[in-house]
Amino acid sequence: MIEQDANKERLELALEAAGLDLWENDLVTGDVTRKSNKIFLELGYSKEEIASNMDSIFSIVHPDDVPMIKSSINDHLTGSAAQYRCEFRVRSKSGAWVWYANYGKIMDRDGNGSGRRFIGVTFNIDDRKRNEEAFAVRGQIWRTLVENSPDTISRYDRECRCIYVNPTLAALMDGGANALLGKKPSEFPGGRDYITYETKIQEVFKTGRDVEFELNITSRFGKEICNHIRLTAEYDLSGSIVTVMGVGRDISELNIQRQKINEMAFYDSLTGLPNRRLLVDRLLHTQASSERGGLQNALIFIDLDNFKTLNDTLGHDIGDLLLKQTAQRLIACMRQEDTVARMGGDEFVIILENLSANAEEAAFQVEGFGEKILAILNQPYRLEHHDRHVTPSMGIVLFSGNKLSIDELMKRADIAMYQAKKSGRNTIRFFDIDMQAAVESRSSLEESMKHALPQQQFMLFYQPQVNSTGKIVGAEVLLRWQHPIHGMIFPIDFIPAAEETGLIVAIGLQVLQSACRQLKVWEHEPGKDQLHLAVNISARQFQQEDFVELITNVLESADINPARLTLEITESMVLGNISETISKMQVLKEKGIKFAMDDFGTGHSSLSSLKKLPLDQLKIDRSFVHDITENNDAAIIVQTIIVMGNNLGMEVIAEGVETAAQKDFLIQHQCLNFQGDLFGKPMPVEQFDALTKCSPSAKATS
Ligand code: C2E
Ligand code: MG
Ligand code: MG
Repeated sequence: MIEQDANKERLELALEAAGLDLWENDLVTGDVTRKSNKIFLELGYSKEEIASNMDSIFSIVHPDDVPMIKSSINDHLTGSAAQYRCEFRVRSKSGAWVWYANYGKIMDRDGNGSGRRFIGVTFNIDDRKRNEEAFAVRGQIWRTLVENSPDTISRYDRECRCIYVNPTLAALMDGGANALLGKKPSEFPGGRDYITYETKIQEVFKTGRDVEFELNITSRFGKEICNHIRLTAEYDLSGSIVTVMGVGRDISELNIQRQKINEMAFYDSLTGLPNRRLLVDRLLHTQASSERGGLQNALIFIDLDNFKTLNDTLGHDIGDLLLKQTAQRLIACMRQEDTVARMGGDEFVIILENLSANAEEAAFQVEGFGEKILAILNQPYRLEHHDRHVTPSMGIVLFSGNKLSIDELMKRADIAMYQAKKSGRNTIRFFDIDMQAAVESRSSLEESMKHALPQQQFMLFYQPQVNSTGKIVGAEVLLRWQHPIHGMIFPIDFIPAAEETGLIVAIGLQVLQSACRQLKVWEHEPGKDQLHLAVNISARQFQQEDFVELITNVLESADINPARLTLEITESMVLGNISETISKMQVLKEKGIKFAMDDFGTGHSSLSSLKKLPLDQLKIDRSFVHDITENNDAAIIVQTIIVMGNNLGMEVIAEGVETAAQKDFLIQHQCLNFQGDLFGKPMPVEQFDALTKCSPSAKATS
């Protein structure tokens, strides 16, 4: 008996420790006894409530769960279930539903049914149930995400065998999910693509760290897809990696976008050629590799001659077309390893790599290539319905290694290109040190030119113009620069730079003002009041929007007779917007000003456009005059110009007349006006004044 009590006590202790509430149902009497009323107390009910209301637990069980409890009991009682087990919800005093489980069994102590009892335990399973619920919800969410994800998702066991494939991945593969499940990536259709994949999975199993990489695969539709893949380890509760999950994202579109951005940053959008940035990159690369290999390379600058004029006259669309065609022609001449880039505007640059190690031989190679480019770019261009001939000027510099900076290399090629322009365009020039010295002295000249105007270093020389009787009828004013260090500088050495820098506009204005002041002075001097002056006008001046206004203002403030002023223009002005040129000339002509076409015969203006200009005088260029007595061609050209000028009602004047023979020839062919050393070199005004006194007409009038 004592032994029995001890066992009972042990049992009760064990039940309490396990949180189990023992109940016993006498199936003969129907009485229910509970060891403790633990669950009711736990649910917040008082002992009294338990005593009065808790005869049947069913009163507080969730109504949905009651049928299930009853059928479970019944199953056991009837013997169809070996045990009674069920889970159900019970309402707490505060109204919340708490999960409990009942486990029970029938005990028939006597074996005859007289003492049949139903014994079991009730215990709280609320935490477990809530976890399970949360887990189920999470699982549901995960499934929804994975199944509907636009990303491909798959999982792999420790042998790298595929154990899960989401629909997106299945749809991509030939044979769907079945083509992958149970296989290693290297066994997938198109397995070669996936060898890397398998290696990466093994890496994740080994290190536990995520791995990311890009993989190109071919989909079942033959489309090339670039996938960004991330592999992540999945652990069990003990912390061991059991599976690896792979998430793949199609980044083909993104790659195209990336490529576009790359192209925008490194390529010229008009021609598709590399831009300056990429060119610099490639130059650095060429420098580095030639530093090791010792071979020569060449940098070639190409500038299209008169591109600006074409762009201005035919419009930017046609200009763009020309640039595109030029790019195509250049590409066609290139070897695989060479680079042709567009620097902007009409400037193209070529890098020729791996020439001979011998500089002289390399120069020879580049020259041959340059000639080829020259010939190809000289082919006529068909630009919509315009046929145009465009020429290039090319500057070349050879380099090997990185002794010279990229900037210096570019500068040298540019200098050489500029030199090609200076030598008459449509040609090639190599950079050399003398060339650089010339350019540097030119840039220092440009610098000092800025001070020349305020410091009044420019002065005017007057070169007489005479008629057939030898009478001085006027002069051309010619600019001289009295440089404080270099002495007298002639126009040929500074006018081009003044034109380029734009300083010519201010200089030209001063020339015009001085000439007009001189005319005013002569108005009051007997014998000189009929003299006229010719002033050279540069294209840059003429193209100023307010050119007409400027000239008018100068004339008005000088208060002179405009008929005694001749403006000398050149044929380059006809190449621009001809109707604008004509209208500007016409306004000034109405005021009485005369116009002369200077250096006639050297430009490219067509006769038809020339005819449209309201000109008063043609000045035969001195290069023809120089040769008339020796060269039959020159003689014929001069005769033709004279006939043409006379027929168009223009006065014809020959410049650069140096000999009596030249003068006689000109008179014989009806050119009756002259300028040249024979009658007087350009001279300061005092000298010119003195000369006019000795002139036949001056003598006659004095
Ligand atoms: P240009 O207008 O054709 O001027 C005539 C040039 O021929 C002058 O050169 C003159 O000195 C030279 N010349 C005249 N007769 C003879 C001769 O018998 N023999 C030789 N060998 N040469 C002769 P210059 O003064 O050196 O001027 C050169 C060019 O500079 C001018 O050519 C003109 O285009 C430009 N220029 C001169 N002054 C100005 C100016 O004030 N403004 C502008 N825009 N250009 C100017
Ligand atoms: Mg002139
Ligand atoms: Mg001239």
